[in-house]
This record gives sequence, structure tokens and C-alpha cells, in this order.
Amino acid sequence: MICTHVHGDHVGWNTRLTDDGEWRPTFPNAQYVISRADFDYWNPANGHQTRSGPRMANVFEDSVAPVHQAGQTVLWEGDHYDIDAQLRIEPAPGHTPGSSVVWLRSDTDRAVFAGDLLHSPLQIVEPDDCPSFDEDEPRARDSRRRVMGEAADRGALLFPAHFPGPGAAEVRCVGDRFAVKGWAAWR
Ligand SMILES: [Zn+2]
Repeated sequence: MICTHVHGDHVGWNTRLTDDGEWRPTFPNAQYVISRADFDYWNPANGHQTRSGPRMANVFEDSVAPVHQAGQTVLWEGDHYDIDAQLRIEPAPGHTPGSSVVWLRSDTDRAVFAGDLLHSPLQIVEPDDCPSFDEDEPRARDSRRRVMGEAADRGALLFPAHFPGPGAAEVRCVGDRFAVKGWAAWR
């Protein structure tokens, strides 16, 4: 399981509440891949003041600590982490300190699963617009521009987590912004 970052809507399925009132890993045989930067930032034991504040209350305790205590976490750090020859995780900090994107390579095709790098298609044309969920807006802007630029250069299909409708797009550079070159067609 790849967690692009430690926000409740991206790790909430890591665990489930059992009848005895304990949070247990949903998938007992899985490894849960989480960046060490996010693991450390959201761990309440480290006492960080976060922008999200109460919105993230208990998320670490309910959805991250149980899988870690079960020995099922892979805490990665550095400039990338390879799942296999096709899947590579790379840092894209700002939304959270350990936010990451996942690059998929298949023959000449490329796709990037961008997590919460973007929340709205508006951010393709206005990449400096940040939601209140971005912990560090300047870093989020830098990461958003960098990854969209890489997606445009590589002809990669961009898969954000929260777009409505078809949800994935090819993008192209237009000056210092971006535009939708085409939406992915699937049903
Ligand atoms: Zn998020």
C-alpha cells in the first residue's frame, strides 16, 4: 500500500476498528509505504504545530501507529523509493512535508499519481493557488509546478486524487502556467 501522504482521507483505510475496540491493519499481509518525513511530522509524540490542527486529530493514532506497531510500515526517505522497475515514488513536499507522487512507467507510456499535489483542475491553469490543506504553500507551489512540468515534458498522464469526473489529464506548458491538453477517456 502506498500512502502519498498522511492525511486522514489518504490513510483512513490503513486500519479498521475491530469488535474488541482495537485499530488493526486492514491488510495483514501488506506493507504500508509511507515517507519518513510525514511519519515524523504527524506523529503527535514529536509535538509539531500543524496548519491542519484539529482536522488531523487522532489520524496518526488510528491509521498509522497500528500498522507501524504491527511491523508493516516501510518508512522511506531520500530522493526516491522504487517499488519495482515500473513504480517509483518521488518527494513532492508542501501539501505535507512528506507528500509524494508515484511515477508509473510502462514501455514508452508514463503516468504520475499525484496525490494531493492538486485538488482542482483550476490549479493546472493557476498553479500558485493553494487550498487551506497545504501545510507549506511556497513548497507546495514549487512541487506543483515541478511535477506538472515533468508530466508535460514526458507526456505523462496526470492522476490527481480529488478531481471530479474523468479525473486524469495530459497537460502542457503555457508560459509560466499549464493547460489541459486532453482528458483521459475511459468509462
Ligand atoms: Zn491531503
